[in-house]
Amino acid sequence: MKENQLKKEFKTRDVERARNIIKKDYTSKTVAGTGYKKQREKHSEGDIWEEDGKTWTIKNGIKQTTTKLDAAKKAAQVPLKCPKCSGPMNYHLSKKMYKIHGFCFDCTIDMEADLRRAGLYEKYEKTMMQGNMQAWASGLEQWVQDQVTETMTYVTEEGDVEDWKGGDTKRKNDLVQGMNEYLKHLKEHLE
Ligand SMILES: [Zn+2]
Repeated sequence: MKENQLKKEFKTRDVERARNIIKKDYTSKTVAGTGYKKQREKHSEGDIWEEDGKTWTIKNGIKQTTTKLDAAKKAAQVPLKCPKCSGPMNYHLSKKMYKIHGFCFDCTIDMEADLRRAGLYEKYEKTMMQGNMQAWASGLEQWVQDQVTETMTYVTEEGDVEDWKGGDTKRKNDLVQGMNEYLKHLKEHLE
């Protein structure tokens, strides 16, 4: 670009910028046709817009994708029937438990009994008190995987079935299966 052309360009831009300032339109494009097409728009609290293939919003002054928001909304909406046992959800503790686990109070009691049998209850209680259900879900996932691996080792190396905490292998398998189903349910709920 020749020097005089550059000067002319600057001049045009300056004039446009000045015009925009007068119009109090600070975010308006002042550079036209120079290849700078992706202009970040200014957004304020509660706005919802598309950007980079995601839906964004501003909540409490923080820019975030709406998937997080949807999850919070989903967890806050309690259905009429428990998704696991189809029982009523009107009991106040069912509503409370639904927000945490995605099912009713009765289902929570059953699940907690299984956790006690599996020796996981203390870990569960501690993580839940910290409000970190994501950490709880990943810890449980690890446990399920470990149990599956352990069971397979028993069968291939020993060749016979050994007692597990005084119970039989079928009971253990049922328990692991139950925990795995709960885990699947919980992960969907936390999504
Ligand atoms: Zn239920």
